[in-house]
Amino acid sequence: METRVIEVEVPGRNEVTYREVAQLLARGDIAAIPTETVYGLGADAFNAEAVAKVFEAKERPSFDPLICHLPKAAALHDIADVPPQLEGLVNRLAETFWPGPMTLVLPRKSCVPDIVTSGLPTVACRVPQHETMRGIAKALGHPIAAPSANRFGRISPTSAAAVMKELGGRIPLIIDAGACTEGLESTILLPCTDEKGKPAVQLLREGPITREKLRGICRVLHNKKKGADTTKTMPSAPGQLPSHYAPIKPLLLHNPRLPFSPEPNVAYGLISYQGDSPLARQETWSHVECLSPGSGRLAEAAVRLFAVMRAMDEREDVQVIIAEELPETGIGCAMMDRLRRAAADRS
Ligand code: AMP
Ligand code: MG
Repeated sequence: METRVIEVEVPGRNEVTYREVAQLLARGDIAAIPTETVYGLGADAFNAEAVAKVFEAKERPSFDPLICHLPKAAALHDIADVPPQLEGLVNRLAETFWPGPMTLVLPRKSCVPDIVTSGLPTVACRVPQHETMRGIAKALGHPIAAPSANRFGRISPTSAAAVMKELGGRIPLIIDAGACTEGLESTILLPCTDEKGKPAVQLLREGPITREKLRGICRVLHNKKKGADTTKTMPSAPGQLPSHYAPIKPLLLHNPRLPFSPEPNVAYGLISYQGDSPLARQETWSHVECLSPGSGRLAEAAVRLFAVMRAMDEREDVQVIIAEELPETGIGCAMMDRLRRAAADRS
């Protein structure tokens, strides 16, 4: 199959493209569509056969549910039943973080096909910030079910070129709107009640909406310890598999202040945070990539993380990737979550 690429460049002036893409989706086709987090592989969420094509193209197992992308917060009620005791909490979260990189898992309505939710009684809902995904969902008039546009278990794509490398020849269309501005997948929250019956959330996946940002908006239940190694346990949310976001080459995490003992005759590449750590100054590396050279800004590192992992994967002079452990504050928590899954044993 030939994979066509359409560029959308001028926000606010792409309605014709959005309508054309919506027509394709309405016919049961699929397309890679940008969001602010990563590129998604989208289908009409109400068309089970179209959603099946997404699973097929990604080689994604059917037990891993998809996120439904909505054009606006009011459309939430088309696919989810918000329990009355959680309405205040859900409205507050939606007003604060939508449109944006937050996904809410809520009881589903029966119109959502089983294939979207992997048969779960809940559906994952998000109103993305990116105009392209929202514009196409609006033109379609249905939510767009979309996981990240990569082969299952691999690194999420943050550019159209990365989608092409992952899925070129397997999907008909990629919408190219340049690089993603967040670079990490959305934060996934499960609104629920705490032991006293008060509204709270469980953090199912760390992401750009950090614990710090949630503070003052809602209580976050301690379903796992901050910094806990979640790769050793099977998580409560399906799809949060121990090995995920993985490069093809082996990846190991290492403390930037401690020396690394290389094996003989192995070519190592280093992913360094700022590039000036004792580890980075070691003479072991055939190549070094910095996430935020010099300044060490976590937000900049987050935007670049997946692109840098891909670059390392593609280099002929690197056999094993060593990644520096990052500070676990703010978005650093989400980055360490992805790095631990990338490093997890795949056997
Ligand atoms: P992706 O878009 O590839 O990052 O994958 C979407 C992820 O959302 C899945 O892997 C699940 O972890 C999560 N998810 C989607 N639907 C649900 C749900 N109903 N309950 C819990 N987690 C969900
Ligand atoms: Mg994914």
